[in-house]
Amino acid sequence: MTKRWNEKLTHALKSNHVATQDTSFLLYDVNFLEDIFKNLKNEWPEKTLHALAIKSCPLINILKIQKEFELGAEAASLEEIWIALEAGIKEEDIIFDSPAKTTEEIEFCLNNNIYFNMDSFEEFERVKIIAGERDYKCGMRLNPEIGKGTISHTSVGNKGSKFGVPIIGNEEKIKTLFEENPNLVGVHVHVGSQGMSLDHLIKAISQVYHFSKELNDLSVFDLGGGLPVSYYKDQTAPSLSEYRQTLERDIPELFDSKLKLVSEFGRSVFANSAVAVSQIEYIKNKNEIVVHLGADMFLRWVYRKEDWHHDVSAFSKDKDFEKRPKEEYQINGPLCFGGDILASELSLPKLTEEDYVIFHDCGAYTLSMWSRHCNRSMPKVLGVKNNEIFVLKSRQSKENILSLWK
Ligand SMILES: *Cc1c(COP(=O)(O)O)cnc(C)c1O
Repeated sequence: MTKRWNEKLTHALKSNHVATQDTSFLLYDVNFLEDIFKNLKNEWPEKTLHALAIKSCPLINILKIQKEFELGAEAASLEEIWIALEAGIKEEDIIFDSPAKTTEEIEFCLNNNIYFNMDSFEEFERVKIIAGERDYKCGMRLNPEIGKGTISHTSVGNKGSKFGVPIIGNEEKIKTLFEENPNLVGVHVHVGSQGMSLDHLIKAISQVYHFSKELNDLSVFDLGGGLPVSYYKDQTAPSLSEYRQTLERDIPELFDSKLKLVSEFGRSVFANSAVAVSQIEYIKNKNEIVVHLGADMFLRWVYRKEDWHHDVSAFSKDKDFEKRPKEEYQINGPLCFGGDILASELSLPKLTEEDYVIFHDCGAYTLSMWSRHCNRSMPKVLGVKNNEIFVLKSRQSKENILSLWK
């Protein structure tokens, strides 16, 4: 676990990019990401658009790399469309999935040739009025109601989920809509994020696919994201390649057909590509380590330990570090509430304030879920490629913090 990062961390800490105020930073393994991007491009049918979920990793410099590999972006809000466009992603490679699209946002998509998935019949009624006689293309999110995964909060493919049109009971209505509306060309299914098994995901896609065969003029099949990752060093998760192979084995027609496939992977692309590093500010009461990242970056982990986890290790410039006797530590975040504790009963080599705490698998849904509680600056983000260190995003400045509040 640490081995993969040791050399990269040594380079990062030696680089002139870690300044005194960079008490914490993230480090993305760009070679690792580029391999994933390359495989996505090579292993899927040529017509596939991989619209990676911006909400999992909105770093514009990473979106620019996505673009080099001809990948697109999935936007959950108008703001995320701005992010994609800023990175140079073409309008036709953006998928807009906000569940609360305003009239202005729909208008923006229509004017800019941005494909969107509708969440409800009501939304489609509104789109039709706004569009009038204009030509456009959109899809409809369908809910196969296959039940929840292991994490209730991030499951959305169950009966009563707040997203999508349930297929059951609406079969005829959906078919009629497709017959009557040539602009409605796609279906979309996304049943959750993390906590979904491969079987669960394939079952959902399969149900939607088999229903969609009855729809008139279908040309886009958007299979969403949701592939889980492992947050534990001794566990594995299905790889993106395995997922593709299983899909192709179980639903071969999906790969042979004339349909344009769209994917919206987020976590499975980014989570394992970065670590977060914090200086040790204090070691108090012998075993309490005070670090510079807490519930501001690890919102879910701090508040819902039963569902979320990050492995924690330590890094030292001292090469005999691993030989030190082990101690048990508690890792305290920097925020002003008692629950801001990241880990406890953690066995690590005896630490000093010269060492660093490393949080693993921080590439997705960490910085992008940053909370403003206590108003600490978002950390710098570094990238490493072929052992070279560069800045992907600077540390949030004083001006930027002040402008948020006036
Ligand atoms: C969040 C989300 C995704 C990405 O999910 P991951 O678990 O990160 O792969 C894709 N599509 C939609 C509609 C989403 O809400």
